[in-house]
Amino acid sequence: MDRVRKLKEIDDFNDECESCRKPSLLHAGACVRSETVDDKELEGIWKEFRVKMKSVMRKIREEREANLKEIEITKNWKAVMIQMNEWNTENIERLCGVLVRNR
Ligand SMILES: [Zn+2]
Repeated sequence: MDRVRKLKEIDDFNDECESCRKPSLLHAGACVRSETVDDKELEGIWKEFRVKMKSVMRKIREEREANLKEIEITKNWKAVMIQMNEWNTENIERLCGVLVRNR
């Protein structure tokens, strides 16, 4: 899962190793190509890989979405605070007056 997190683009998880044609995500480092597998075996490896990746990808997408939401909220608050900081006392008092009147 950490290997997926380190990917530059999340969709790169599906990349095929140019040397051995296995999912490159399965390599911890560079490809060693110690064994050659036939097409049928390769197909099996990919099939198993995709099944495993489904749940991993779901978790990572959820993580990313939660992160984005948090960033969005922080951004909004920052904008509000910057805005408030630029207001002068008169404007703030006027706003407070409006808020009190609307209660
Ligand atoms: Zn390889």
